[in-house]
Amino acid sequence: MKAPRKESHRRSIFDETMEPFYRAAELIKLHPRVRLELEEPDFEHIFYITIDARDRLVPLSPEEEAHFKDLPASSVKAGEALEPLANGQFVLHRRALLKADITLREGVLRIPRRGLFRIEKGGPKKFKAYRIQHNQVRGPYKGGVRYHRDVSLDLFKAMAAEMTWKTAIADIPFGGAKGGVRIDPAAHSKEEIEHVTLRFIYKLKNILGPYFDIPGPDVNTNAGIMAMMMRQYTDGATNPHALRGVVTGKDVRIGGSEGRLKATGQGVVYCLEEWARWRGTSLVGARLLVQGFGNVGSAAAEILHAMGARIVAVQDAYGTVHDEKGLDVPALVAWCHANPDNLRRTVSGFPGAPALPDGDFWSLDADIALPAALGGEITGEVAERLRVKVVAEGANGPTTPEGDEVLRARKIDLIPDIVCNAGGVTVSYYEWLQNLRMEHWTEQEVHTRLERAMKSNYAIIRDIALDRPQKTPQHDSRPFAIGRETDMRTAAMVLALKRIEAHYLLEGFSQ
Ligand code: NAD
Repeated sequence: MKAPRKESHRRSIFDETMEPFYRAAELIKLHPRVRLELEEPDFEHIFYITIDARDRLVPLSPEEEAHFKDLPASSVKAGEALEPLANGQFVLHRRALLKADITLREGVLRIPRRGLFRIEKGGPKKFKAYRIQHNQVRGPYKGGVRYHRDVSLDLFKAMAAEMTWKTAIADIPFGGAKGGVRIDPAAHSKEEIEHVTLRFIYKLKNILGPYFDIPGPDVNTNAGIMAMMMRQYTDGATNPHALRGVVTGKDVRIGGSEGRLKATGQGVVYCLEEWARWRGTSLVGARLLVQGFGNVGSAAAEILHAMGARIVAVQDAYGTVHDEKGLDVPALVAWCHANPDNLRRTVSGFPGAPALPDGDFWSLDADIALPAALGGEITGEVAERLRVKVVAEGANGPTTPEGDEVLRARKIDLIPDIVCNAGGVTVSYYEWLQNLRMEHWTEQEVHTRLERAMKSNYAIIRDIALDRPQKTPQHDSRPFAIGRETDMRTAAMVLALKRIEAHYLLEGFSQ
């Protein structure tokens, strides 16, 4: 498992995330009251969820094992009733004990081919939960739900604000929100995650809705969890079918959009295509480093691989795999995402390529770095080591302000997160529209719209950065130019703030 990043010297994540906001606000002389409206969230909801956890079988340490060497095996079988968790423990469902021959000593039993385990009693457990609603001047609050042990108010404030900027850049009628639960999903069963999800929505029920706040997936949440959220929100309503747009990222069979599963990765690729066109280069044969092989990273890698790019290394939370000639991406996807034994869905142990020490990953020679894991990974020190032409931010906030400075100084191009990974929320908007209109669009229709939207918004940002206002058949950057050059991240914020400010200035304040 990768060592956690040292964060002690960092300012708050929210303060760091807001730096481009203040830079852009200065540049465009943002209306002072609009600045006040945007510099803090509208609402910060912090609450607690309780569930009843099941009993656990916890593996013994090697020292403890010595004490139980002669303990005979019990006839309990691993399987559905003994549910394996990604952290090496098992959830013990009582039916596992029916008709079993059990030998217990001091609460320890031996399971054939699995080893020695101590039974730990379950019981009620409490989790801290969050929903931050940052701004809704352009439309309903919109943002993902993250289940992770390292979440905090600070993180969700930053991510909710980023959603406000992102939805404005994507030019979709949504605001910004984010939330989630402080939980380690690897330590919990499917049923426990379901109970957490149902309680989360139960507590939020009055402050969600297709026209008020619309959650979607983020790290460790997926279409299955979105389905539970929809069910919990709509259960008992007289018009449940009219409320399907309360969450996005659902399975296509229950109101999800074609193309949503891979939309964020697809959007990253559209931005990279536009970057390559502008740089006069090609993605065919381009060499990539991909960090994170979940929804975003694996989809982007699959699409780029199919286009002829070479994914030379992939890193996730548990390890790194590397092949100079290019990894066999379909085989790696199958290893991670279609392999029931790979509970952590990790690239680690992939038989098709050797492992690489984690610390060597960012120093590999490549054309494109694609961070698609957690925030704050590209620090100043990592940016100094990078040997790539462009960083395409699939993750939210992967580059620290120091990392940004180094990238600028080293003239490494940047496709900032708030445009690069906006494909997910853009197709979420398409999903929401289809739900409200009771329509089902084809994948081709979704891709055509997404490509046009991603490429034109990216081109507007590049024109702002280069101070080259122009109108082409695809985009019009003239209303957003600021009369001087700036970096891409500030340019992205300029576009977001100009679009948001227009609402306040044209609609006015109700008092
Ligand atoms: P996911 O849970 O599907 O996958 C996360 C991946 O990151 C996993 O492979 C995990 O092993 C890896 N990871 C976690 N910690 C790591 C570490 N310390 N070092 C290396 N790898 C690590 O999540 P996702 O939905 O793919 O989201 C990834 C990023 O993209 C997040 O920053 C998220 O906010 C952002 N994002 C996601 C979406 C979306 O539609 N899912 C949209 C926009 C942005």
